[in-house]
Amino acid sequence: MQYEDLYRRSVEMPEAFWAEQAAAIDWRRAPDAILDQSAPPFRRWFCGGLTNLCYNAIDRHLVDRGDQLALVAVSTETGVTRELSYRQLHREVQTFAAVLHELGVRRGERVVIYMPNMAEAAIAMLACARIGAIHSVVFGGFASHNLALRIDDAKPALLICADAGMRGGKVIAYKPLVDAACEEAVHPPRHVLVVSRGLDRELVMQAGRDVDYAGAAARHANSEVPVAWLESNEPSYVLYTSGTTGKPKGVQRDVGGHAVALALSMRMVFDVGPGQVMFSTSDVGWAVGHSYNVYGPLLVGATSLLYEGLPIRPDPGIWWQLCERYRVRTMFSSPTAIRVLKKQDETWLGKYDLSAFKWLFLAGEPLDEPTAHWITDGLKRPVIDNYWQTETGWPVLTLLPGLDMKPVKLGSPGLPNLGYKLRLVNEVTGADCAANEKGVLTIQPPLPPGCLSTVWGDDQRYVQSYFSHFKELLYSSLDWAIRDEDGYYYILGRTDDVINVAGHRLGTREIEEVVAGCGEVAEVAVIGVADEIKGQVPIVFATLKAASCDAGERQRAASAMQARVVEQLGPIAQPARTYIVDALPKTRSGKLLRRSLSALAQKADPGDLSTLDDPSALEAVRKALARGPDLRHG
Ligand code: AMP
Repeated sequence: MQYEDLYRRSVEMPEAFWAEQAAAIDWRRAPDAILDQSAPPFRRWFCGGLTNLCYNAIDRHLVDRGDQLALVAVSTETGVTRELSYRQLHREVQTFAAVLHELGVRRGERVVIYMPNMAEAAIAMLACARIGAIHSVVFGGFASHNLALRIDDAKPALLICADAGMRGGKVIAYKPLVDAACEEAVHPPRHVLVVSRGLDRELVMQAGRDVDYAGAAARHANSEVPVAWLESNEPSYVLYTSGTTGKPKGVQRDVGGHAVALALSMRMVFDVGPGQVMFSTSDVGWAVGHSYNVYGPLLVGATSLLYEGLPIRPDPGIWWQLCERYRVRTMFSSPTAIRVLKKQDETWLGKYDLSAFKWLFLAGEPLDEPTAHWITDGLKRPVIDNYWQTETGWPVLTLLPGLDMKPVKLGSPGLPNLGYKLRLVNEVTGADCAANEKGVLTIQPPLPPGCLSTVWGDDQRYVQSYFSHFKELLYSSLDWAIRDEDGYYYILGRTDDVINVAGHRLGTREIEEVVAGCGEVAEVAVIGVADEIKGQVPIVFATLKAASCDAGERQRAASAMQARVVEQLGPIAQPARTYIVDALPKTRSGKLLRRSLSALAQKADPGDLSTLDDPSALEAVRKALARGPDLRHG
C-alpha cells in the first residue's frame, strides 16, 4: 500500500487501523476495545488486553530464533563486547528479575536505573518489564541533584546503578553520585543494586542498603521468573524530560500501545525485521535508547547493537567498522554525532564494507544542510531526518522507507508518520496555517499509541503542559514549524524556554535555579545560542549581590556558578560562556526578556522592546558582551 492511503486510513479510521497493527504483538488476552476516548485528552488504547513487553521482546522469539543474536553490547571504553542470543538474554533477564523479586520489588513499583550503555542496563529494563515494575532510566550524564529530583518524583523501591561509567578512557564513578542523590532525596529507595565492572576501585557499599549484583545473581543463575500479564494501559516506564520549570516531567508510557507502535515503526519506518540488525548510537537514558536500543528491535526479532564509547575512539571509523562486522541494516544517530565525525578525515566513511547498510536515520535536533550533504555523499545512502519528542516515543515526522520511500528534502524531517493527525496552527488564534505559513505544530487527539499516557503522578500537569494552549483540545509540541506545498514539514525551533544541546533537551530554568543557589548571585538568565557542533549551548548572564566587582571577582563568581551546575546537573548542562552583568533586561512585570538577551548574544536585533522596564539593562548586557565572557568552557 502507498504511504498516502495508509496514512489516511490511520488518521481517519484509527480504531480499524490500530486493531490491525495490534496483531504484530502477542496478547495473553485480546483487547475488548481498541480505543477509549471517554475522558479527553486522556485516551486508552487496547483496553482490557493483557500483554507483557518482555514476553514480546524475548520469550516469543525463543522457538524460531533462540540462537540468533538479540543484543550486542560493544564498549570501546572497557574493551568488552558482549554478544547475547535471544536464549542467553532470556536467561539473563530471568536472573535479573529473580534478584528484583528477592529485593522485594513488586508490580507497579518504580525502579530507577542509572547506568551507562552496558548490556545490564537493557537487561535491567527488560527484567522490570517482565515483573511489571516501572523502570525509570536516568541518563548517566546527569549529576546527583538531577538524580535526586527524579528519585523524589518516582519514589522508587530500588535504584540500580553501575559502579562507574567511562568516557574517553576516563572512569566516572557513579556510586558516589548515587550516594549523594540518596542523601539529598526525601524518598530514597530501600535498596541500591550495584552492577560492578570493577572500574571504581574505591567503591563503598552501604551495609543494609546496597546489594552487589554479582553475588545476588549467583543465587539465581537458573531461576525461572514467569511474566506478569499487564493490562495494556498499565505504566511500563517513566522517563523524565525537561520542561519550562525546574521540576522534570515524568513521561509515562503504557504497555500495549507502546509495543504496537514500536513494532509498526520498526517495519514501516526503520525497515528492520526479524534477523536484521539495527544500530542506534543513543544512550539508554534517552527516549531513543528505550525505543530503538532496547524494545523496538527486540519486539520484531531483530538484533540490537548497543555502543558505549565515543564515535572517534579508537578511531573515527569505529561505527562503520561495527556496521561491517555485524552487517547493520539501519543506523540511528544524531546530527551532533555526525558533526563530530565531519571534523575528521572523511576517508573513514569509505573504509568498510557497508553492503548490508541501507538507511541512516538522524533525530533529536535540526539537521543542518552541510552535515546532511556530507554524510549523504560519504555513505552514498539516503539519510533520513526524523522529528519526535520524549513524549511521543517514536517519530512524528519522518519518511517511511519500510513502506514507501519518498524523496528526501534537505532541511525537512519529512511527512506525518502513521497515526499522527498533525495540525499546524496560529499561535494566537489557533486557526490552521496555510502552506508555508509559520505556526505551532500540534497533534489532534487522540494521541496515537506509543505516545505518553500522562505525566507521572500529575494528570493536571499533563493537561496543563500539553493541551491548554488553544481553545480547541490540541496537543502542543511547543515547536514552531511550517509545511510546504508538498506536505513536508520544517521545524523552526521551540516556542518555550527549552534548549537543545547535542540533541538533549535542557530547560534553561533548571540551570537558572542551580546558578541562583550560588550565594553571591542576585539574578540569573540562561539562554541557548547556536554552536557549530552541539547545535545549541547554554550561556549564563548573572548579576551579583556585590555592588561592584573587578575582573578577578567576576571570574571567581563565574567559576563557582559553573562548578555548581556541573556538580548538580552534570557536564551536559555546563555553560559555554558566563557573563557577569550589571543588570538584566526585564519587563515591567519583572519577567526576564530572554528573547532579547538571546538576540543580543547572537548579534541580532533584540526585537520588540516595548515592555522593557529599564533600557540601561540592555546597555549593561552589550557592555558585558563587548568585554567578553568572564568564564568560557569548550
Ligand atoms: P527530546 O524530547 O529531548 O527528544 O527533544 C525533543 C525536541 O527536540 C523537539 O521538541 C524539537 O525541538 C527537537 N527535535 C527533535 N527532533 C528534531 C528534528 N529532526 N529536527 C528539529 N528539531 C528536532
